[in-house]
Formats: sequence, C-alpha cells, structure tokens
Amino acid sequence: MSEDCIFCQIVAGDIPGRTVYEDDTVLAFLDANPLSPGHTLVIPKAHHERLNDTPADVAGAVMSTLHELVPAVEAAVDAPASTVAFNNGEEAGQEVPHVHGHIVPRFEDDGGRPIHALVTDRPDLSDDELDAIESDIVAEQA
Ligand code: AMP
Ligand code: ZN
Repeated sequence: MSEDCIFCQIVAGDIPGRTVYEDDTVLAFLDANPLSPGHTLVIPKAHHERLNDTPADVAGAVMSTLHELVPAVEAAVDAPASTVAFNNGEEAGQEVPHVHGHIVPRFEDDGGRPIHALVTDRPDLSDDELDAIESDIVAEQA
C-alpha cells in the first residue's frame, strides 16, 4: 500500500467505493466522476503505478476481470458498446498513479470519440521509420 494513494485507501476501506467486483488480487468500483453511467475502474489491490510496473500475473488478473466485467457493465446500463482503456503514465493523462483500467459504457450519439481522436496531430512516418520502430520494439523484448 502507498499511504497517499487514493486507490490504495479504497482497497484498505479507508475511503468508500462502490465495489462491483473483488477477489484477492483485483478490485473494481464505480468511477466517482463518471464519463457515462456505469463507468467502472479495475485495479490491482497492490500498488503498482503503471502497467509497466505491474507483474505479469497481476496484469493478467486485471485483464481477466475486465473481460468478465465488460459484458456485465454494458448489460447493467443497457449500453451497446464500451471504450476500455488505460491512461498509462502522466503524459498520457493518468491522474491517479495506481494502474487502473477504465470501462466507459458507450451509447449511440453520446458525443464521445474513439481512441483515434486522442491525437489530432498525427506523425507522418515513412516506411523506413516504421521499419526502424518495428525492429526497435522487437529488440526491446529480447
Ligand atoms: P486517470 O485520469 O486515468 O488517472 O483516471 C482517474 C479516475 O479516477 C478518474 O476518472 C476519476 O474520476 C477517478 N477517481 C478519482 N478519485 C476517485 C474515487 N475516490 N473513487 C472513484 N473514482 C475516483
Ligand atoms: Zn495505490
């Protein structure tokens, strides 16, 4: 637990949360400032700041919970779709530094945008630049 982390405080029961799923590893609760009805956050109970810092088994448990909850959340609020996303790091818009996946139910004509609307200024990358990025990412995993 990280003392000044708001999500760790929810896990500890020190501040209230509207829990929709819980097991030994994962907690899911309603977002306090929802982007749409049913907006849910899925977190590991242990404090990990980003996906990058999260052990694979814990990340797997978070993903498995997202997989279970997405249809349940959509059904509960009668949503035909949802945006499922992580703001992974401050520059990506992460405000609470305890890794969390968002389930944002989506509705026809809800005024929301797709993930491709995140960036308005897209880079114009050449084939050579794309090839170099491809091999750099592969090399990083070696
Ligand atoms: P992010 O910008 O990805 O870090 O998202 C943080 C999310 O946490 C926001 O959608 C907030 O509305 C939500 N949030 C912040 N404090 C609480 C809280 N005490 N209970 C539930 N959700 C919260
Ligand atoms: Zn935390």
